[in-house]
Amino acid sequence: MTERRLKGVAAAAGVVVGRFQFHARHHESAPGARLGDAAALEAALQAAARDLQALQEACTPEEAEILAMQVSLLSDEELASPAFEAIAQGDDAATAWCRALDAEIEGYRAAEDPYFQARATDFEDIRDQVLERLQGRRLADPHVASQTILLADDLKPSEFLATRWAYGSGVALARGSPSSHVAMLARGRAVAMVVGLGDALFQARGLGILDGAAGEVVIDPAERRLETARLESTRLYRRLERDDRHVRARAVTADGVSIAVHLTIAGPGELDGLHPSLCDGIGLVRTELFLDTLERLRDEEFQYACYCRIVQWAEGRPVIFRTADAGGDKPIAGYTLMGEDNPFLGIRGVRLSLANEAVFCVQLRALARAAAHGDVRIMLPMVTLPRELERARALLDQEVAALAAAGVAHARPPLGIMVEVPTVAITPERFEADFYSIGSNDLVQYVCAFGRGQAGQDEHAGLAVASDPAILALVAKVVAHGHERVREVGFCGDLDTDPALLEALLRQGVRSLSVPPASVGSLKAKIAAISLAGAEVPRR
Ligand code: PEP
Ligand code: MG
Repeated sequence: MTERRLKGVAAAAGVVVGRFQFHARHHESAPGARLGDAAALEAALQAAARDLQALQEACTPEEAEILAMQVSLLSDEELASPAFEAIAQGDDAATAWCRALDAEIEGYRAAEDPYFQARATDFEDIRDQVLERLQGRRLADPHVASQTILLADDLKPSEFLATRWAYGSGVALARGSPSSHVAMLARGRAVAMVVGLGDALFQARGLGILDGAAGEVVIDPAERRLETARLESTRLYRRLERDDRHVRARAVTADGVSIAVHLTIAGPGELDGLHPSLCDGIGLVRTELFLDTLERLRDEEFQYACYCRIVQWAEGRPVIFRTADAGGDKPIAGYTLMGEDNPFLGIRGVRLSLANEAVFCVQLRALARAAAHGDVRIMLPMVTLPRELERARALLDQEVAALAAAGVAHARPPLGIMVEVPTVAITPERFEADFYSIGSNDLVQYVCAFGRGQAGQDEHAGLAVASDPAILALVAKVVAHGHERVREVGFCGDLDTDPALLEALLRQGVRSLSVPPASVGSLKAKIAAISLAGAEVPRR
């Protein structure tokens, strides 16, 4: 048999050598038989909502939010009304429900915005859950064993959450998107995932390889490739075990230089099950990832509750909340501008916040209130001009004064900036921030003129990397500025891609890093193996 390599899109890292297993839904027949009437549909809607609510109890708060959104769709009368109308015209419940939902799904699929395209999966999910109940069948409680690669067209968040994933299992999807909810869930649970592999995936049988970081699935792999992948997989899992031993230790280089290690998180749910002693604080909360609707951006109480959960978890350690960095690849319907020529060079981050000051002030107020409970720091994304920092500072002072006048408990958090636009990195002395954090993910794309979404593709690999001498020179410049003014300078860009990058950054004087929780062990292990002998060690 000839080996076939299918190229897809990387969605969650990990190498799995294992047996292909079709997802249960692929063996099931399409709907069509006359199965019920309006009462049956009503009962199925209620049963699906009840089951999702039960599932919520066993989930992290972030996962529960996804399910809560589905529960609210199930009780949305407007969504179900075309189905009830079709039943009144003589359709059976299953056909009527599927037609109504398929029309909705088509609309989302046709959307230009990948974020909305990815939402189609949520509608498919509730369509199938209701259908299963109308047809009197449920998917078996699925368990995906170690060394198994699950094959599916796409997966719904509820299917992912209802599945027990063994360590060392993976998912290959014919469709899907790395920005879908299910891809985020896979990354959070360390299940390797490749999406967008196309229908050729369904020819897979027997043993295969999934490489989540390379975005590749190999069908009928040659013996030699199997061997290499097995070694890589074993090495990976051994490394994870070894790294676990470093997780709680302080990060110190081989020659005794302490490095502060902070967490980068997408929301409070990511901290569940983690102990704060694993880190020196939280270096980046990407608030736009949980304030992902205009409604939430305007909801001070929701935000205050989320911020307090994170601050309480940190037990006095510093927490840097970045104000919403909407725009670019993180659109928020009704808030970000549609149809920009190049959203990465458009109105995003603090530019958007300052164009919507009322919305921005909600976040500043909620953060100042949360600051009464711990060490809260506020960071502005995409700062380009000193006047943006000054305006944001004026708004923060205004909200703090209003809270004081109203007798609301609060504190005035320090206000720092991301260094991710070249103007700031080249002349940091123009920006009187309380602290700085270098965001190489964007800095690299703007300095090297190569989109961050494209980086890593074969023939162009190396065009835009954080270890580029130009980037390292800018890092050194910002670090020197921080020392001169006695202001903290952290680094919160992605550190996973280039092993030499870490040493290069430490040699430029970076002493504070921020990484996702799953990378803390490996980061500390790498730090322990580095000697900074000969490098100029900063005074602090
Ligand atoms: C960065 O740009 O490096 C950064 C940390 O921010 P984000 O990846 O969220 O744009
Ligand atoms: Mg950025």
